[in-house]
Amino acid sequence: MISDTIAAIATAVGEAGIAIIRVSGPDAVQETAKLFQSKIPLTEVSSHTVNYGHIIDPLDGSRVEEVLVSVMRAPRSFTVEDVVEIHCHGGVVSVRKVMDLLLQRNIRLAEPGEFTKRAFINGRLDLSQAEAVIDLIRSKSDRAFNIALKQVDGALSKRIKAMRYDLVELMAHIEVNIDYPEHDVQEMTSTLIQNKCSAALQEIEQLLKTASEGKILREGITTAIVGRPNVGKSSLLNALAQENKAIVTDIPGTTRDVIEEFVTINGIPLKLLDTAGLRETTDLVEQIGVEKSRNALEQADLILFVVNYNEKLHDDELLLLEKLKEKQTIIIANKTDLPQELDLKSIYTHFPAQQIVTMSVREQEGLDQLEKSISSLFFSGELESNDLTYVSNVRHIALLKQAKVSLEEGRDAAEAFVPIDMIQIDIRLAWERLGEIIGDSVSESLIDQIFSQFCLGK
Ligand code: GDP
Ligand code: ZN
Repeated sequence: MISDTIAAIATAVGEAGIAIIRVSGPDAVQETAKLFQSKIPLTEVSSHTVNYGHIIDPLDGSRVEEVLVSVMRAPRSFTVEDVVEIHCHGGVVSVRKVMDLLLQRNIRLAEPGEFTKRAFINGRLDLSQAEAVIDLIRSKSDRAFNIALKQVDGALSKRIKAMRYDLVELMAHIEVNIDYPEHDVQEMTSTLIQNKCSAALQEIEQLLKTASEGKILREGITTAIVGRPNVGKSSLLNALAQENKAIVTDIPGTTRDVIEEFVTINGIPLKLLDTAGLRETTDLVEQIGVEKSRNALEQADLILFVVNYNEKLHDDELLLLEKLKEKQTIIIANKTDLPQELDLKSIYTHFPAQQIVTMSVREQEGLDQLEKSISSLFFSGELESNDLTYVSNVRHIALLKQAKVSLEEGRDAAEAFVPIDMIQIDIRLAWERLGEIIGDSVSESLIDQIFSQFCLGK
């Protein structure tokens, strides 16, 4: 049982409207009460109330801060423990002072992620839900946020638990047959195993199918903008960035330079690669020979190849397009406000697999079409559907793949009439791997490692 009480500043540090200090643990109410001056003593207020008063320095009785203190008693709180939240005015000094006073009591500073870890240990969240809390904090687009929110809500857990339930049933069935072989239902059992394994496999495959889309939504589509000088690459970049300026401003724990690499199109985050080298060169092909540029192109999930609508295609552009045939490329014919010189038809015939978008960045025309093209390249039509569970966490993906292998082996073994006690081993393995996703049978060190990724106060 957890016996100590922890505290941390739960809001971003710095000047802000208010700051919230969160205290959790068996002594949270009692210890905070000793610093809190109000009409009703904090130890006597009802749960889930907000109480006005002052934090005082118990040494000299001086007022340190005017605060609102909310009390949420166990088990109806995020951590399932007694939780006190102190809403301060938020000046850096006063918040620090309140924190210091708390830490002089029987309260210690929380480690990063420790509140969420307690929610997990106390059974309020399973591991996949707790991990989703990290994703929630870090999400860079509305869509990624919604996906994480659903996972916190337990959407993935539910499906994993249902699968595990079926596998336990199957294992029990097999167990009975091992113990009472005289029933002679071995053959029926073999069919049952095949069916159950196939059903679970189908479910796992469905989840894995969402993995690449989930990863994209979480981490962004790695994108390179390339093209000859003056075709409008910088202008396009600015147009994309401008439209989406406000999106990633106040996500705690992310640094500025990381934020600036991202733009969001239709809710899909693009991670723009530093292709400065590619952007401003005179000779495209020569430039591709430069290692840095080549790496950028190789890394990219998506290449936005900008050409001039007002000029014929240059030889080096043709060459580079040829090289990029295997890549997801959108050819952008920019400057449609000028007379057409570009032979679009011959591009269509040469590169039938590539999408072509005509636009004028200057006139702000065609951006919509570009957004649609990007969506259609990376997402099947189901993206909008609300009941899709996305798997985007690499740990979950790896475990699903392992479970899949075990189930395939189990199914094939059943088909080959391998003795069922052998098959039992495969099914148990799959059941265990699935369990690790939601935090059954995971090691303490892994749990520590997962929660240490959190920021302070979560
Ligand atoms: P980059 O060298 O490829 O980055 O090209 P820039 O974005 O710097 O643009 C080169 C020039 O083309 C600038 O003078 C832009 O104002 C101009 N430009 C960009 N987009 C358009 C467009 O849609 N129409 C016209 N007429 N000019 C454009
Ligand atoms: Zn430029």
